[in-house]
Amino acid sequence: MRREETKKIQIGHVLIGGGSPVAIQSMTNTRTEDVGATVEQILQLESAGCEIVRCAVPTMEAACALGDIKRHIHIPLVADIHFDYRLAIGAIENGADKIRINPGNIGGQDRVRAVTDKAKEYHVPIRVGVNSGSLEKHLLDKYGGVTPEGLVESAMDKVHMIERMGYDDIVVSIKSSDVMMCVKAHELIADQCPYPLHVGITESGTLLSGNIKSSVGLGIILNQGIGDTIRVSLTGSPIEEIKSARLILKTLGLRKGGIEVVSCPTCGRTKIDLIGLANKVEHMVADIPLDIKVAVMGCVVNGPGEAREADIGIAGGIGEGLLIKKGEVVRKVKEEELLETLRQELLHWDE
Ligand code: SF4
Repeated sequence: MRREETKKIQIGHVLIGGGSPVAIQSMTNTRTEDVGATVEQILQLESAGCEIVRCAVPTMEAACALGDIKRHIHIPLVADIHFDYRLAIGAIENGADKIRINPGNIGGQDRVRAVTDKAKEYHVPIRVGVNSGSLEKHLLDKYGGVTPEGLVESAMDKVHMIERMGYDDIVVSIKSSDVMMCVKAHELIADQCPYPLHVGITESGTLLSGNIKSSVGLGIILNQGIGDTIRVSLTGSPIEEIKSARLILKTLGLRKGGIEVVSCPTCGRTKIDLIGLANKVEHMVADIPLDIKVAVMGCVVNGPGEAREADIGIAGGIGEGLLIKKGEVVRKVKEEELLETLRQELLHWDE
């Protein structure tokens, strides 16, 4: 089902599915047992724009820490469980707003039922997560290896198992590091699954490759109206995941808000340190709550023309630059004063 048609699910105070805005998630990389470090990272994630956060729960100590962590944060907390159903029950009892399990690896239907019963009692949604690396042998045999069809069948088998246990507060995720397999699997499951989908490209790599794979994969999937929450998985700081996720949603027109910086690629005409300036501008605008476009262009030949589409821009000259607002050149500014001039303009922006 497309985004507008999926079942609406409540995770803490955040609604997903049923036409709700696509929610941005990330996962902490601190030890969950270390409450102080985990809370500190979650608060940083919140400031960056994270709306739902997931923590690994590998021990009962981590499950018990969730209650303490929740007291200090402001976004829903998801517990990520593998193998031990008792950890899922512990996480729910300690206040997890959602649990993520793979019903295929927590040891049989009785244990899935015990977790489902507890989730039902506490009204906690279950995210059924299936990864290409954990596809069951009978599906590998049936489809001749890992395929989109196999991933979808695996996920839907588990969804139906939980439905038969009388529960339908379900979110589904299918992850593969093969971007186009992931795309195909989402297209297939969207036709047969009424529940919200959490979308991400798993093990996508470090900053560059992770961002590119996630942008391509999430871009194709989200642009078809599929996907209710997203995570950009990066081998790096989770804060970077949030920045990337926001930019992906903004680029697709699924989010508004925040300053968009456009900058030229530089060329033989560039006579100022435009690369340095563009990076400083991007950093400087991150906390300014405006929904406008800022252009940072390298020269006065093409800069003003290219900056015309933006709300405000600078076009570099030799040791100076032009300040341009709504396509009109306002004044000349010395190169060393360009950044501060732009900052003052943005701080006193009047629509
Ligand atoms: S704006 Fe000027 S400096 Fe930048 S790429 Fe275009 S022509 Fe080159």
